[in-house]
Amino acid sequence: MKEKSTKSVKLTKNQSLVLDALIKAGQPSGAYALLDTLGQHGFKAPLQVYRALEQLIDLGLAHRLESLNAFIACSHMSCETSGATAFVICDECETVQEICDDTVSGFLTSLAKKTKMKASKSNIELHGLCNGCADAPNSNN
Ligand SMILES: [Zn+2]
Ligand SMILES: [Zn+2]
Repeated sequence: MKEKSTKSVKLTKNQSLVLDALIKAGQPSGAYALLDTLGQHGFKAPLQVYRALEQLIDLGLAHRLESLNAFIACSHMSCETSGATAFVICDECETVQEICDDTVSGFLTSLAKKTKMKASKSNIELHGLCNGCADAPNSNN
């Protein structure tokens, strides 16, 4: 486990702007969608967004959803590591829930040890239907 240092970290202006946009979006956002929002703040190139995202991910403040090719703010703003994360993703309404459970990260860490693999990151993404969508009657209203 890495030591907790997120709280003392000072974000650059760009990083806080990107993080802000992610939080406001409240859903997984692609870099280009973020760039749209951030244009008014002087962002011009996707690379600026990607750079800020990368650093936010390193700090455990944001996470990357590989299967959606999108980014999301950490739901508790304090992941000790962005190296072992898990999400449930609804394919219907695209709701994403971060699973904040030490069991998961503990399991991933032990799995890495067992396989003698020095895993730098692991991310579980479970796709399916959320409660609301699974219960919804099959009509279009
Ligand atoms: Zn997190
Ligand atoms: Zn749903």
